[in-house]
Amino acid sequence: MVESGDRYQKQLLLAGLGARGQARLGAAGVLIAGVGALGGHLAQLMVRAGVGRVRLVDRDVPELSNLHRQPLYDENDLGSGEGKAQIAAEKLRAVNSEVVIEAVVAELGPPNVLELAQGLDLILDGLDNPATRYLINDAAVHLGLPWIYTGVVATRGNVLCIVPGRTPCLRCLFPSPPPLEALPRVDTHGIIGPTPAFAAALAAAQALKLLSGGPDGLLPGLFSFDFWRGQFQLTELPGGPAPDCPCCGQRDFPFLEGRAQPA
Ligand SMILES: [Zn+2]
Repeated sequence: MVESGDRYQKQLLLAGLGARGQARLGAAGVLIAGVGALGGHLAQLMVRAGVGRVRLVDRDVPELSNLHRQPLYDENDLGSGEGKAQIAAEKLRAVNSEVVIEAVVAELGPPNVLELAQGLDLILDGLDNPATRYLINDAAVHLGLPWIYTGVVATRGNVLCIVPGRTPCLRCLFPSPPPLEALPRVDTHGIIGPTPAFAAALAAAQALKLLSGGPDGLLPGLFSFDFWRGQFQLTELPGGPAPDCPCCGQRDFPFLEGRAQPA
């Protein structure tokens, strides 16, 4: 056990955080949905920063083709039979033993999403399946929990902060999931390591700001980037939820109730 003393010293110097913000981080809990590349970076940044409870959910085991971009796995983990969530939790406990890290080796779905998110303060999206985000959106709006959408493929990515009741939700902007075949995927379009690292860093900064000080000053819209074209863009969004949104306006949760298939 390491003395806690100086662990957060450099972070505490930040005017916007300070001891009060650090205490709030320590009292906060996050769900990290998917612990691949995005989720691995997100988990690491939350644990190192001292977010008090970090729950990792992933059904997969590491593969060789993950290692070029997923920061929490190495060659020794291949073929061990252990799930990514377990391996990530073990490694991160060695980074910061003050954080309660929970590993759940399971697929996030309608039967378990509410239970997994209950009692926490924020959901971070580390998923590689764009459509499962509609399930997270339903769960977050249902529970009144903020969530941060982070999607990446190839050299492109998007980050969007969603605070139910305060900002548009995913379905305010895109009422239905796009057809899966219409979307570029890592399996078909590839990806380089910097893409998830960059998107996760931006999302993690929003998470730390939100958990330590509340929703003021979060990204006011959809941030998009493409490294290969040198494009970085913030698309500002309407100030609040859409009144006719099926999710946050009419509180219809088809993905949560299993009436609509997210994948
Ligand atoms: Zn909405």
